[in-house]
Amino acid sequence: MDPALRDQLLDRRGRLQTAISQSVQTESLHHLPREVDLALEKSDNGTYGLCETCHDSIERDRLMVDPLIRNCIDHLSATEQRALERDLDLAYEVQNNLLPKKQLSVQGWSTAYHYEAAGPVSGDYCDLLIPQNGDGSLYFFLGDVSGKGVAASILMAHLHAIFRSLISANLPINQLVAQANRLFCEGTMSTHFATLVCGRATRSGEVEISNAGHCLPFLIRDNKVKTLPSTGIPLGMFCAGEYPSERVTMEPGDSLFLYSDGLTEAQDRSETQYGEERAAVLLTKNNHLSPQELIRASVEDVKQFLSGARKADDLTMMVVRRVG
Ligand SMILES: [Zn+2]
Repeated sequence: MDPALRDQLLDRRGRLQTAISQSVQTESLHHLPREVDLALEKSDNGTYGLCETCHDSIERDRLMVDPLIRNCIDHLSATEQRALERDLDLAYEVQNNLLPKKQLSVQGWSTAYHYEAAGPVSGDYCDLLIPQNGDGSLYFFLGDVSGKGVAASILMAHLHAIFRSLISANLPINQLVAQANRLFCEGTMSTHFATLVCGRATRSGEVEISNAGHCLPFLIRDNKVKTLPSTGIPLGMFCAGEYPSERVTMEPGDSLFLYSDGLTEAQDRSETQYGEERAAVLLTKNNHLSPQELIRASVEDVKQFLSGARKADDLTMMVVRRVG
């Protein structure tokens, strides 16, 4: 048994005992220590974490949240299933509200994005911000939290909150990402990390950009595509990580294209990947389009490529266009 899960159980047993000894209404609590003991017994005989219906492993992230669950996600009781559906609807709602305004623009820049979860919620992170107390600069973020589903979406929300609260400190990009990394490291399970591109676009066309191990963004200029290099390791790996930034000057008509690996690693039925090459060709051919049309063309092209094959990963794309 995973020692972290066993610790979870022992910790809960301790807390329950304290709660029961302090509570005046203990009747409703009494079955819980018994359930914890049952789980510990199962851990001794090697059946802990196995679904009571199909005997396959129960999803680890669900056990971390509730170590007493007894069934895998496919074998929930009808009541559990309804509760899960309600939770997911709410999570979807919450996540949707975290997304930035569609087609946000500011003097010198216009943007568009596409955000699509493979399941009910996404582990991708997408944000656009123009700080109110700032100099009119536009901040853009696109990232991917390791794993999928609810656990990843919670970490995505965590990342969103970290950057939103740090942004008012008006830090240079390298310090902003380093600071966010420290906070993310301190508040996150060591098994999780996030890749991310974060940039600041100023009115004069200068872009400062830092890439923490994420897919390389494309710079589209004069019908040519160039990838911008990665400068750092993913967030959440080492608290003291450094995140150097690069500077690019963009001219009117130039576009930055950011995406998650749900784009390039999308697979058709023959398991061929969509790939960077196909994305680059599409982008150079269509950079005359408006940012939202360019995004629409990309979404359409992925759909054509998949031709009905199942989407396996969250997909996010963003265009940041310099306008005259
Ligand atoms: Zn099962």
